[in-house]
Amino acid sequence: MNKYLKVTKFIKSLYPGQNPVPLHAPVFLGKEKEYLMECIDSTFVSYVGKYVTKFEEMTAEFTGAKYAVAIVNGTAALHIALRIAGVQYGDEVITQPLTFVATANAIVHCGAKPIFVDVDLDTMGMSPEKLNDWISKNVEYNHSTKRTINKTTGCHISAIVPMHTFGFPCRIDDIVKIGSKFNIPVIEDSAESIGSFYKGKHTGTFGLAGVLSYNGNKTITTGGGGMIITDDESFARNVKHLTTTAKIPHRWEFVHDEVAYNYRLTNLSAAVGVAQMEYIDKILLNKRNTAERYKQFFESSDIEFLREPRNSISNYWLNSIKLKNREARDNFLEYVNNNGVMARPIWRLMNKLEMYTHCQCSDIENSELLENCVISIPSSVISNLS
Ligand SMILES: *Cc1c(COP(=O)(O)O)cnc(C)c1O
Repeated sequence: MNKYLKVTKFIKSLYPGQNPVPLHAPVFLGKEKEYLMECIDSTFVSYVGKYVTKFEEMTAEFTGAKYAVAIVNGTAALHIALRIAGVQYGDEVITQPLTFVATANAIVHCGAKPIFVDVDLDTMGMSPEKLNDWISKNVEYNHSTKRTINKTTGCHISAIVPMHTFGFPCRIDDIVKIGSKFNIPVIEDSAESIGSFYKGKHTGTFGLAGVLSYNGNKTITTGGGGMIITDDESFARNVKHLTTTAKIPHRWEFVHDEVAYNYRLTNLSAAVGVAQMEYIDKILLNKRNTAERYKQFFESSDIEFLREPRNSISNYWLNSIKLKNREARDNFLEYVNNNGVMARPIWRLMNKLEMYTHCQCSDIENSELLENCVISIPSSVISNLS
């Protein structure tokens, strides 16, 4: 008997009748259809309509951020957040090697270059100690310009982008402290962590701004979509301006005051978002219960189930496990994927992707260990919400 038969059976028992069991399928159990029909009947399907504002208000309320601005997707939201934070052509931005490729891409969309600093083993997010280490050894702080310069390249380091992996909050308060010491703003890639809290505060609300994603595989979805959350009023205003073609409000004139973007979220997408936000608490509770069942199951096996780190509440977006080594990881993936259960390795490290091999890195031993051993397993909402 294959040693992974039991876990395959267990996962199938959580998601009966699904073959293969998907990694993360969306659910539409609220008023999504009703609101969509209303958009269509009213003809307000595009950028004007009440749902965009409603979605932004609900997100601000839920996360505790003062402002929330809806954006066409999470990648575009990261791009704009970095631009408004001051990232310019030729700059450098510190992020982690263990992340989804969009984090690094958004940095390059600004004309900047990523630097990769290792993650912690328990949070899988940027390690404050390694960040402090790398910065102490590699930068010079110019007191008159208040800019932090990379000693090797001479480039301005203009942002830090930690990521809350699979919904596990990283040690974001310490990272923000290091950022302030060097006058480097922190933009949180909280694309995976809606509903995740660190020391009682929602992820994405620690740095200058945070970014959420509503891609189809995320905790809640709008088909595709994103959000920038911030407490800074002028930041929020600039985000709105830059993502809506920088048009100066006027009843009929077309006057635009900079080269900007059309990164708006449509009213159709926002309508789905509003419906999803109305029962996000039930979704989060359901996912938490699933994580608990996984935890109990894996206690009697030699596979480690990854628990939320200390001081935090995870949304358990993707439940994940740690195998002993690369070989065990590959055997597991081979078996379960051949037997009707979708499972995926964590991402290949950014510095190993062709376009990022030339980037500067800290030591990345933790990222490498996780890359070799971590697998995500099915984590959709289970059957109904009751
Ligand atoms: C999903 C995701 C994004 C990008 O969001 P999209 O809405 O798909 O563009 C960015 N960063 C991370 C870590 C993500 O998981």
